[in-house]
Amino acid sequence: MPLTARIALNRPLRRLFDYRIPEGMDLTQGQRVTIPFGRQQATGLVVKTGVKPPEGITLKPVAGTLEPWPALPEETFRLLSWASDYYQHPLGECLFTALPPSLRRGRKAEEKTEQWWCACNTSASLPTNAHRQRALVDWLATQPEGAPESRIVQAGFTRAQLKALLERQLARMVAPPANSHPATPIESPDRQPVLSDAQSAAASVLESSARDSFSAFLLYGITGSGKTELYLHYLKNKLEDTDQALVLVPEINLTPQTVARFEHYFGARIRVWHSALNDGERLSTWLKIRNGEPVILIGTRSAVLLPFTNLRAIIVDEEHDSSYKQGEGFRYSGRDMAVYRAHLNRCPIILGSATPSLESVHNARQDKYRLVRLETRANNATSPDISLLDIRSRPLEGGLSRPALNAIEQTLERGEQALVFVNRRGFAPVMMCFDCGHIIECPRCDTRLTYHRRDRAMRCHHCDYQTAATDHCPKCQSEAFKPVGQGTERTEDILASAFPETPVVRVDRDSTQRKGSIQSILKTVNSGKPCVLVGTQMLAKGHDFPNVTLVVVVNADGGLFSVDFRAPEQLIQTLLQVSGRAGRGSKPGKVLVQTCHSDHPLLKTLCQGRYLDMADQLLDEREEGRFPPFRAMAIFRAEADTMANSLQVLDNIKSLASAPGIDVWGPLPAIIARRADRHRAQLILNANNRSVLNRLLTQICQHLDQQKLPAGARWMIDVDPQET
Ligand code: ADP
Ligand code: ZN
Ligand code: ZN
Repeated sequence: MPLTARIALNRPLRRLFDYRIPEGMDLTQGQRVTIPFGRQQATGLVVKTGVKPPEGITLKPVAGTLEPWPALPEETFRLLSWASDYYQHPLGECLFTALPPSLRRGRKAEEKTEQWWCACNTSASLPTNAHRQRALVDWLATQPEGAPESRIVQAGFTRAQLKALLERQLARMVAPPANSHPATPIESPDRQPVLSDAQSAAASVLESSARDSFSAFLLYGITGSGKTELYLHYLKNKLEDTDQALVLVPEINLTPQTVARFEHYFGARIRVWHSALNDGERLSTWLKIRNGEPVILIGTRSAVLLPFTNLRAIIVDEEHDSSYKQGEGFRYSGRDMAVYRAHLNRCPIILGSATPSLESVHNARQDKYRLVRLETRANNATSPDISLLDIRSRPLEGGLSRPALNAIEQTLERGEQALVFVNRRGFAPVMMCFDCGHIIECPRCDTRLTYHRRDRAMRCHHCDYQTAATDHCPKCQSEAFKPVGQGTERTEDILASAFPETPVVRVDRDSTQRKGSIQSILKTVNSGKPCVLVGTQMLAKGHDFPNVTLVVVVNADGGLFSVDFRAPEQLIQTLLQVSGRAGRGSKPGKVLVQTCHSDHPLLKTLCQGRYLDMADQLLDEREEGRFPPFRAMAIFRAEADTMANSLQVLDNIKSLASAPGIDVWGPLPAIIARRADRHRAQLILNANNRSVLNRLLTQICQHLDQQKLPAGARWMIDVDPQET
């Protein structure tokens, strides 16, 4: 019998392809091969060898191997196969996601040493019309050590321009400078603080784990409690010189300061991994890790897919952060894959946060994770004082009440800074009365109706109930009856006119889209002069603003009463994180939360600042509402040129999805029902058993792959969705 190999390709296909292995060729799982595919050659990855070919079919032979070793070592391969099955994403695309871009395209797995250039003879003349060449000479002249070609291209120049300068003898090639990383840690004992008693106690629990077995810790440490210091200490004590370690951080936390803190302890062992690396940098780091070098990798979500061969510890910082979930394509959770990876690798994992996810708190409650607490701030700063400001029947300007504006004014008068936080997350709107606080619920289910702006309709997410939106409160007849979360766009304008002498700085996705702009925005803040910051979630993460002493939360109710079941959790997390920005310096901080529901039990607990108590309340609500983590959830989303077509795709899925133990909600138009002329709808599956759900999803996806969809229609699946 001829030997055969089953190959995965980097295509969105839920199938694999069989090839014959030519005589003398040795193949193993995870190895890269070249194969004839259609009229082209394609790069593939070996999934399996020795499969029996179907009778009567002659298979084409594998054309060649790209290297004699598997690009994806065994554990990495198993991790990705598991993820392909769990997230219902085609295996080929999952596997290829774990390769650096150049290897996906079939390039050699070796580091190209890059050509470096420097300027010479900078005063020599150039033709007057050679502006770009002139600019390049001037740019090179600012690089005393020279610059690698990739950086020159990044700076906006071309290889042709370099060549022209070479011919004119205005630039020359030079040897790259020796590694700019310090080879050994810069040990200075004074900069490695002695752990506090609380930190030492936590450290001894973390360090008690056995070296070669899986153990998971949930490190709950309030903001500024010294978690990062503890990670450093832990790795220093736990790792041997040859070990690899992975530290996952949210994108926004991967700052030069964070990296510098790690380099200070570990010198050249530190490598970083994030979306801004170029292909060469990716390949270089990927190869180091694949070769088993003792790297300590600090990276964002996709770092969990790297081909570690000797991974001995994993840390996931800010484990609750929603950026760990990939929002498109292969929709995996970097945090959850990290936990599975620790299982596979038999190594300890620490999930750290001041506001851990309910999933992780639940796991700790069930003794799957060991809970470790750090409840005092490391540098003796006090925790901020949180209070509620009831805005029922109060006139609002740009969402702000008079008492809130007064508090901002007083803060500025003291020469301090204020932060105004607009919660956009819960913007999935419900209708609320701003006079009596009444919220419209479904008459049939125990859920709130969502407001769909396009057709001014209110819909239930669980049943088909639908009704027209009214413009006054059905309970008290007030006309202050609006979707929660609206009317805050004008917050910035109102602040600017209320405080004309003071800079008002806006931080959100729009204002920071331009690269580097967050740095320049934050310059005003870092100067320490009085100013008002206005912004969304982005403000809550990672920053340290010593002179911010007041935080005003414009609209807590949007998160409290959203139809998205995760919104209250995210609200509480964000509020505590944003509160953690206040009073980090020597001055105490104050937080004012505007709400129409000041008697809400969750907000009352918030004022005590005890996150785990709130998490317990929220978990009870999740259990009662039969939501994750007590149930397993998946969402099918469809988009098409018409809503009817989107709904048709989902109706078809619904007809396949009825099974015992599975609730199906929808199909319904998405909250943002139309984006870029595409009509979007969704169908939610909520199951009491994860493996039953997983098997059902596999069947549905296979079935859908063989079906013809209405023209222009697309469907996607999202397992463990972050947004519903
Ligand atoms: P977290 O990661 O929990 O926000 P960090 O590790 O960044 O906390 O610590 C907060 C601040 O306290 C930092 O400025 C850090 O240098 C300082 N710090 C942490 N642990 C200690 C310690 N044991 N002694 C002195 N300062 C500490
Ligand atoms: Zn009312
Ligand atoms: Zn209903």
